Amino acid sequence: MSEPPPTVGRVVHNVPHGTPLRSDGSQAFPPACRAAIVTEVDTDDPGRVGLAVLNPTGQFCHSLSNGGSVLVTGSQVPGSWHWPERA
Ligand SMILES: [Zn+2]
Repeated sequence: MSEPPPTVGRVVHNVPHGTPLRSDGSQAFPPACRAAIVTEVDTDDPGRVGLAVLNPTGQFCHSLSNGGSVLVTGSQVPGSWHWPERA
């Protein structure tokens, strides 16, 4: 991994699941990067973390005990996290 391991308190991106697909295949709110703060790191699997996700209208917590979030770089996989893209 070329990026540093996550640590508690770092800001990362979370890819939400978005809203359900409509019959025409579109979504009212498609997945898009959201800011998230790392709240826990799995010591056995440092790519799996707990997150406090900051959505524009509220926050949502993904705890490790609820499955957490796994690192996926270079692809918008719903439920995953990645380091923020550079502008
Ligand atoms: Zn992102």
